[in-house]
Amino acid sequence: RIVYVNGRYLPYGEAAVHVEDRGFQFGDAIYEVCEVIDGRLIDEPRHMARLERSLNELQIQQPMAQRALGHVMRQVIKRNRVRDGLVYLQVSRGAAPRDFYFPGPDVLPTVVCLARPMSRAVPATNALKGIAIKSMPDIRWQRCDIKTVMLLPACLAKEAARADGAKEAWFVDGDGFVTEGASSNAWIVAEDGTLVTRQLGSAILPGVTRTTLLDVLREEGMVPVERPFRLNEAYAAREAFITSATQTVMPVVRIDGNTVGDGRPGPIAQRLRNKFHQFAAISGT
Ligand code: PMP
Repeated sequence: RIVYVNGRYLPYGEAAVHVEDRGFQFGDAIYEVCEVIDGRLIDEPRHMARLERSLNELQIQQPMAQRALGHVMRQVIKRNRVRDGLVYLQVSRGAAPRDFYFPGPDVLPTVVCLARPMSRAVPATNALKGIAIKSMPDIRWQRCDIKTVMLLPACLAKEAARADGAKEAWFVDGDGFVTEGASSNAWIVAEDGTLVTRQLGSAILPGVTRTTLLDVLREEGMVPVERPFRLNEAYAAREAFITSATQTVMPVVRIDGNTVGDGRPGPIAQRLRNKFHQFAAISGT
């Protein structure tokens, strides 16, 4: 396997960043995960736009032009011969002697890019059965709209979910409303048939899959409602599902031990899952 680190393509075992990298010491880094199908990038422009936004929000220098980052991702896909899988791109503020203050402009961002094959059969199998969710208090910070590598709360939540036999955790804010999944956006088909997902804001990541799915819905003549929903509403929903670049649309059949709908993946979630890639932007390599 080949990994890109700061301008070089290195063997996996030799790829490393400095011990004083701010991503390592402070979580001072942002990232993107892009799905790869048949060697092609899914929704690259939206991932690039979000990456740029994350960098701007944290005042991290843009390490290189978007075109150049796109080139790096393609190289990593090609050099690893990834057909189906994902690309991970991380940019940290760079390496500098440990200090809370930002380093000067001479310290350049650290860029890491790796690609990994991932069989599409695994999510496809999960989607046939649907997944279980465990809810958890949202203990994350108040800028969840920025895609930072500070993922410890997500790790804790996922681990707790796994211990309960659930694949994903849903975070719940102080007012009892679901914010999003540990690594996905949360959706329900409410009792009255309305498709509901939380509105954008600093409490959730603006998921690229979420945005593209909103396009799919409008194309399908469905009118989604972006508003908060509580766990009780989700327990009683007709359907529930999550969206993320690696899961696409993944049906949810249990939440905290409560069966959603008839306990099988809902028809709307399944249809949207099947339609999704017709609407996503697919860019060649
Ligand atoms: N929310 C969080 C907290 C996430 O980590 C992710 C996955 N990166 C998502 C939502 C889904 O975003 P996307 O559709 O862009 O993968």
